Amino acid sequence: MDCLFCKIIKKELSSEVVYEDDKFLAFKDIHPIAPVHILIIPKKHIETIEHIGPGDKELIGELFLAAKKVAKLQGVLESGYRLSFNVGKNAGQAVDHLHLHLIGGKKLTWE
Ligand code: AMP
Ligand code: ZN
Repeated sequence: MDCLFCKIIKKELSSEVVYEDDKFLAFKDIHPIAPVHILIIPKKHIETIEHIGPGDKELIGELFLAAKKVAKLQGVLESGYRLSFNVGKNAGQAVDHLHLHLIGGKKLTWE
C-alpha cells in the first residue's frame, strides 16, 4: 500500500518519533504551525474519521490516552494544547491515514 504514514510506521521513511507503543506512533510534523506540533497515528491503516467503525471504538479511545501521554512528554499538559483531525477536502486533509494533530507551546488562535 502506498501510504506515507504506513511507511513512517515501518521506518521506511524517517521521522522524529516522540512516542511509540504497540498500537500508536507519534512524530513531529514536518511543517509545524506551533512550537509543539505532533502527529499521533494508529499503526492500523484507517483513512479518515469517516472510515472508523464500531470495531475501532477501543482503538480511538486509546488514541486519546496516547495523546495525553504525548502532551505530558512535550511539556504542554499545564499550558494547554489543541487536538484536531482534518477530515476530507474542506478541512485540508492531505494524508489519507488517520492522524491526530497535537498543537501547543503558544497561545493558539481559532478562525
Ligand atoms: P492533514 O492536513 O491533516 O492531512 O495533515 C498532514 C500533516 O502531515 C501536515 O501537517 C504535514 O505537514 C504533515 N506531514 C506530511 N508529510 C510528513 C512527513 N514525512 N513527516 C512528518 N509530517 C508530515
Ligand atoms: Zn497508512
